Amino acid sequence: MSTVSLAVVPEPISLRILDMFRIGPGPSSSHTVGPMRAAGRFRHHCLDRGIVPHRLQVELRGSLSATGHGHGTDRAVLAGLCGWEPETVDPDAFLAIADRLRAEPEIDWGGRRVRLHPDDVAFDRSRRTDPEWLPHPNTQVCRAFAGDGSLILEESWLSVGGGFVQRTGDEGGKRRPPSPPIAPFHDGRTLLEQARTFGSFGTVVLANERVWEEEPGLLETGLDRIWDAFRACIRRGLGRQGSLPGDLGVVRRAATLATQVDSGRVEESYRNIARAQAYAYAVNEENAAGGIVVTAPTNGAAGIFPAVVVEAAERLGLERVAIHRALATGAAIAMVIKTHASLSGAEVGCQGEVGSATAMAAAALCEILGGDVDQVERAAEIGLEHNLGLTCDPIKGLVQAPCIERNAMGVAKAWSAAQLALNTGGRGIVSLDKVIRVMKRTGDDMRREYKETSEGGLAVNLPEC
Ligand code: SF4
Repeated sequence: MSTVSLAVVPEPISLRILDMFRIGPGPSSSHTVGPMRAAGRFRHHCLDRGIVPHRLQVELRGSLSATGHGHGTDRAVLAGLCGWEPETVDPDAFLAIADRLRAEPEIDWGGRRVRLHPDDVAFDRSRRTDPEWLPHPNTQVCRAFAGDGSLILEESWLSVGGGFVQRTGDEGGKRRPPSPPIAPFHDGRTLLEQARTFGSFGTVVLANERVWEEEPGLLETGLDRIWDAFRACIRRGLGRQGSLPGDLGVVRRAATLATQVDSGRVEESYRNIARAQAYAYAVNEENAAGGIVVTAPTNGAAGIFPAVVVEAAERLGLERVAIHRALATGAAIAMVIKTHASLSGAEVGCQGEVGSATAMAAAALCEILGGDVDQVERAAEIGLEHNLGLTCDPIKGLVQAPCIERNAMGVAKAWSAAQLALNTGGRGIVSLDKVIRVMKRTGDDMRREYKETSEGGLAVNLPEC
C-alpha cells in the first residue's frame, strides 16, 4: 500500500501595516507601550465582568522587572489601569501619573472609585526563569482583589515586542484577517515572488490591506497619521535642548547636529546622512524623554526608519503615494522578521530592534532610489546581516546609551546597505530568510544578560573602562 504525504502549506502572514507602526509614549514599545496596553486589557476584562476590585496589583517579572524603572514600565501600567490608550494619551499627564496617584490613590472605574497607588506595581527581584513563572522574558501578572483580600481575577500578560501583547493561554487565538490575502506570502522568498508580480514589496502589502480594510480610504488616513507623527516627533526633538531625564546626564544632540548641517560646517559628502542622523537623534531623544513616538518597529529603534525616509522624501520631493509605498515596504520587512524571529530586545537582543529597523529603512530607501525588487530584498538582508549579534545593554535600563547613538549609526548602515544593493550588482549568497533565521538562532544562543536586563555589555562594564 502506498502512502501519500501531504505537504503542509504555511499560513500566510496576516499582520497589518499599522501593526508595525504604533503611536505611543516612550521610551520602550515592549516595556512601556506593551505593559500599558496589557494593563488596559485587564481593566476591560474586569469591567466586562462587572468586577469592581477593592485593590489592584501588577507584578512585573523578568526583563520588565530588571529594566522597568528606567523604561517607565510602572508608569505605563498605572496609565493602562486608568484606561488611557497609548495612541491618545496626554504625554504630560502620562509623565505625572505616579505623582498624582501618590497624592490621591484613586482612579475612575466605570463610574466607581477604585484604589490605585504606585506601590501596587511590584518589581519581582527573584530572577526566576522557569517557564511556569516566566513564560516570556517580559511577563506581567495583573490581579484584582476583593475587600476581604481574596483574589477575584488574575491574568498573566506577555509583552512580545513592538507593543504587541498576548495573554497566556491565548497563544492559539491569533487574529484572523476577514478574508484570505490577495497576495499571500509567508517569508522573504514568497514576498519577493509576489513583489515581482506586483512591482514592489510595498505594493504587495498595500494590495492585501485594500481587501481587508473596513472602509475605503481608512488605510490611507492611517498611513498619513503615521507620517504626520514621524514628522511631528522629528520637529519636537529638533526644537529641544538640555539633558534627558534620568541620572546619566545624557545631553540632547539633535539640534546641534542639525545646526552643523544647516550652517554648512558638515562636509558635503556626509551632509544628507548627517541630516538624517539628526532626525534619528531627534526621535530617540523624544522617546527617551517619554514623548510620543511611533514604533518602527519598536520605540528603542524608532529613529532609523523615519529619519531615513523623511530625509529622502524631503530631498527628493516624494509624493504621497510613494511615501505610503515606502511605509508599506518597511512594514513588509518587519512582518517577515516578526513572524520568523523577533522584534524584541528581550528575546533576541538589539539585533531584533536596531537590526530590524535598519533592514526596514534600507529596503524603503533602496526602493525610493529606484531599486528593483531583488535589490530591495538585498538591501534589507545587508541591513540586518551587519547587525547580527548586536546585544541589548542599555546603561541603567534607560533607553538612552547606547540606544540613541545606535539609531544614528543605524541610519548610516541603512544608507550603505541601500547603496551596496543598488551598486554592486548580482545576488548575494545570503538571502533575507537566511539572515532572519541566523538572527533568531543567535538570539536564542545569547545569554540573558545581553537581552534587555542591563546585566551585561555597556550596562555593567562602563565603570571599568
Ligand atoms: S540597546 Fe537596542 S534593544 Fe536594547 S533598549 Fe536600546 S535600542 Fe532597544
